[in-house]
Amino acid sequence: MTPEHLYRLWRQEGGRITPQRRAVVETLAAAGGPRSAPELLETLQSAYPDLSADTVYRILDSCVRSGAAEVFHVPTRRADRYEWVDRPHHHCVCLGCGKVTCLPSCPVDQEREQRLLPAGFRTVRHEYQIFGYCGECQTMTAAPPAPADGEPADVSHTVPVGGSPTALADTSPVAPGPKADTAGVKSC
Ligand SMILES: [Zn+2]
Ligand SMILES: [Zn+2]
Ligand SMILES: [Zn+2]
Repeated sequence: MTPEHLYRLWRQEGGRITPQRRAVVETLAAAGGPRSAPELLETLQSAYPDLSADTVYRILDSCVRSGAAEVFHVPTRRADRYEWVDRPHHHCVCLGCGKVTCLPSCPVDQEREQRLLPAGFRTVRHEYQIFGYCGECQTMTAAPPAPADGEPADVSHTVPVGGSPTALADTSPVAPGPKADTAGVKSC
């Protein structure tokens, strides 16, 4: 979605496109990756000294509701991050360092997805996020204790797909509800 498309949606709902809304939307759309509300606030504060964190969050939430942004929540990070969605695509999120990576295609079987929906449900979009640990975080956490008794020091902590290594606590795939994808893959 483009910022202009989003403004049209907001106007149709009777919303006003204030300079602050415009600034947050356009900064996020140009960011090329996830940003937190405090990061956006810092970027915009000199130009918009009256802008508050509350306002930034309200604007970001409106973006998410309209399908113009996706939100990433990682329990270890204080602030959620938001990514502008110019075309629908999905992500995996590292619970260790918080890195968000775009997936090259949609892993959802869309015919099956449709069959799971309640009768009459009208899909607008779907989200799909995979949580786990990136290779770098696994290497750091897996630093072996002093090699003991001829055991190989290199204990592999490779995470099987969908699984979680005991040393790394929970890896919970979160797929908030099946909804349909109109298309595409984007890398950001
Ligand atoms: Zn990581
Ligand atoms: Zn992305
Ligand atoms: Zn999808």
